[in-house]
Amino acid sequence: MSQRTQIRAPRGTVLSCKGWQQEAAMRMLMNNLDPDVAERPDDLVVYGGSGRAARSWEAYEMIVRSLQQLENDETLLVQSGKPVGIMRTHVDAPRVLIANSNLVPHWANWEEFRRLEALGLTMYGQMTAGSWIYIGSQGILQGTFETFAEAARQHYGGSLKGKFVLTAGLGGMGGAQPLAVTMNDGVCLAVEVDESHIQRRVATGYCDEIAYTLDEALVRVHEACDKGQPISIGLVGNAAEIYPELVRRNIIPDMVTDQTSAHDALNGYIPAGLSLEEAEDLRKQDPETYIRRAKESMAVHVRAMLDLQKRGAVVFDYGNNLRGQALEAGETHALDFPGFVPAYIRSLFCRGKGPFRWVALSGDPEDIYRTDEVLLELFPEDEHLKRWLTLARKKVQFQGLPARICWLGYGERDKAGLAFNELVAKGIVKAPIVIGRDHLDSGSVASPYRETEGMKDGSDAIADWPLLNALVNTASGATWVSLHHGGGVGIGYSLHAGQVSVADGTAEAAARLARVLSNDPGMGIIRHVDAGYEEAVTHAQKYHVKIPMQG
Ligand code: NAD
Repeated sequence: MSQRTQIRAPRGTVLSCKGWQQEAAMRMLMNNLDPDVAERPDDLVVYGGSGRAARSWEAYEMIVRSLQQLENDETLLVQSGKPVGIMRTHVDAPRVLIANSNLVPHWANWEEFRRLEALGLTMYGQMTAGSWIYIGSQGILQGTFETFAEAARQHYGGSLKGKFVLTAGLGGMGGAQPLAVTMNDGVCLAVEVDESHIQRRVATGYCDEIAYTLDEALVRVHEACDKGQPISIGLVGNAAEIYPELVRRNIIPDMVTDQTSAHDALNGYIPAGLSLEEAEDLRKQDPETYIRRAKESMAVHVRAMLDLQKRGAVVFDYGNNLRGQALEAGETHALDFPGFVPAYIRSLFCRGKGPFRWVALSGDPEDIYRTDEVLLELFPEDEHLKRWLTLARKKVQFQGLPARICWLGYGERDKAGLAFNELVAKGIVKAPIVIGRDHLDSGSVASPYRETEGMKDGSDAIADWPLLNALVNTASGATWVSLHHGGGVGIGYSLHAGQVSVADGTAEAAARLARVLSNDPGMGIIRHVDAGYEEAVTHAQKYHVKIPMQG
């Protein structure tokens, strides 16, 4: 793939497409590849190992051109990052439909995927990379903040003050961890093998300090814990070496997790004992040996986490399939510590709550501040939301187009979306607002090692739900809808869907938003009612969600 000039989404109100819906899709695709947003824009890689926005530069350019020419009653079809057709639909239909990385289940493994990828027939779309709603590390910041907040509530009376949190991986998503820990008043030690990634997090305010040796880092950790001072330190090192070293020294953090790109053994995880350059060479020359060594290191990494758990640490898997990979490499106890969803997030999912996010197409941060104010007016009783929005405004530096995220549930997202549409209609914000979410949401994903781990009725691997989610969002009139395979935990392990809708201030947009922003989280309610969660039943009753088998 050739290197291109740097991409930046247009700002302001001059359209290069025939309507705001197409314009929004084009700007968000470009924003995904903005060098301030994407991890490796030259390779079209946005985040999460090799999560791409488009299959090739030729495909990228053709998607942009297609969107610019797309009529208001047409729909562009994108097959794993390549534009493959334009169909006449109608004004309320999505302008873009996307299917990424899908394989027939029997063939759904990395080996077959890589064979097809090498032939130029598919690409890895991750979750929001190939569906054009990635907004940089802040996108995950709220989710990570929520997770650590809930963990703090469950284990330490509500705060991480004076607590030592050990993690690894400061990539696109994992980079949110240090700030999420300090926002919960804790002390974070994040092991990252690539020094430039730590520097990037320090430069953008996501991490406070860099350390080059474990000794130096531990001095800072202990000092900060003693003083109850929130601080985050990025340690240059390999997690498969540092975690076992802590076990050897019997230094037991309070909480342990990991967000290396373990889901992708070839591209996302550096085996122990290799420098970045050595890893790069081995990956090219002998991918099989690379994968074997990466998985062996993951087994060592997980074994250290199990040891730390036995010695009293709270340990959880942070959604990267580290346990699954270690299991394959022979660590039979890998699943002895839980995933973060059953441990901390499921009860939010029962309320249709998940990572709602929006982006100001004007490019003006003031527009996001107006939306923050609207949310505080809409939900004055929500102290947690208030705390988040206040901290986010103070601590989050925007990357690319200004954006915001907060977890909202059923009965809340439609209110927020309609209020944002009003802001556009009244000219209080300067251009339309794009409203989407992560695929990691309450009713949009089947992923037995992550979002659907340990479902009450054992339905972890039932994958009808994300399909229904994509279908209902299409029927409801989202602006673009995506259906992906393999995001978060890798090929073979998940199916998931996304939607993005545009608030352009028109009455038509209001009608679409009201439908999509109810039906989309509504899928979360019905999915969890179906699995037998009482909390979801209570919510369904409260909001009169119609569920035929529920009397
Ligand atoms: P990324 O590829 O951008 O970053 C991974 C980082 O890990 C890189 O900085 C890399 O240098 C580092 N790394 C690799 N091997 C290492 C090792 N052995 N020791 C130390 N550092 C190492 O990926 P990302 O976007 O940050 O996502 C990380 C993982 O989290 C992925 O598996 C992704 O699917 C998963 N994920 C989880 C959630 C969630 O909500 N829990 C959300 C999105 C993604």
